[in-house]
Amino acid sequence: MNEREWFTEAFENKTAFSVKYSRKLYESKSAFQKIEVYETPVMGKVLSLDGCFMVTEKDSFVYHEMITHPATAMIKQPQSALVIGGGDGGAITELVKYPEFKKIILCEIDEGVISACREFFPEISSGLADPRVEVVCEDGAAYVKKFQQEFDIILVDSTDPVGPGKALYELDFYNSVKNALRSGGVANFQTESPFFMANVFADTVKNLRSVFGPQSATPYLCVIPSYPGALWSFTMCSTEPKDFSIASCGLSGECVSSLNYYNAQVHIAAFVLPNFVQKLIS
Ligand code: SAM
Repeated sequence: MNEREWFTEAFENKTAFSVKYSRKLYESKSAFQKIEVYETPVMGKVLSLDGCFMVTEKDSFVYHEMITHPATAMIKQPQSALVIGGGDGGAITELVKYPEFKKIILCEIDEGVISACREFFPEISSGLADPRVEVVCEDGAAYVKKFQQEFDIILVDSTDPVGPGKALYELDFYNSVKNALRSGGVANFQTESPFFMANVFADTVKNLRSVFGPQSATPYLCVIPSYPGALWSFTMCSTEPKDFSIASCGLSGECVSSLNYYNAQVHIAAFVLPNFVQKLIS
């Protein structure tokens, strides 16, 4: 396929996902990664970091709704949230839909990602303009250590465990996140593809369970076509055992109907794991 027409993410040089693009809108090299934005007829605008699909206008609403709303559904009247990574602003844009929040911090290591997404993904990044949101550009693994029992919600919206993202898959980081949560708080981690990164997924869930407890770290699934293998996982954790599959709080009815993927039934279904995924984490 002609590179001047197709953007391709090769996964471990064995499989690939390509999308035809009409125009390359942006390219820069930050201190951390290559940042590119393409205009594509099928996926809309696409953000790539170091050649990996990160955000598309077509399907990122699934990721941003599913990293956020299952977690906020666990907390009555959440007041404070921290998003680590997430420089596209998508998770922040979902969090600011809750009027209860008083303080929301985004800790993204690469300011270049934030500015590219503000320019090319104004809708997805719109939440960054909310007056309750504070943006810091630091390594999340170091930043989170500044807090003790501070946050109701922590979302770890990281890249893969390579480069600066590696620090967000370490036990030390998981302990720091647990320490930064208020009692009963919820931390949600993107935990990769059970199909194409089965070992990373299984090891991450095991490590999260070793820090939060076997009953306090539970994976759930959704489908994101532009990510390797499409089937994607998050792992929800808390400072105390919780049945995360029961949405006890969260957005009111009419707000949920304004979403495009998440709803009360999707919440329950997301925690129903196929046999092969259960085997990976048993
Ligand atoms: N939804 C995407 C996914 O699942 O791959 C990730 C979204 S977001 C673009 C991931 C962000 O994590 C990137 O902007 C990257 O710069 C940021 N990041 C990586 N390592 C980080 C670290 N140690 N601290 C803070 N942000 C980090």
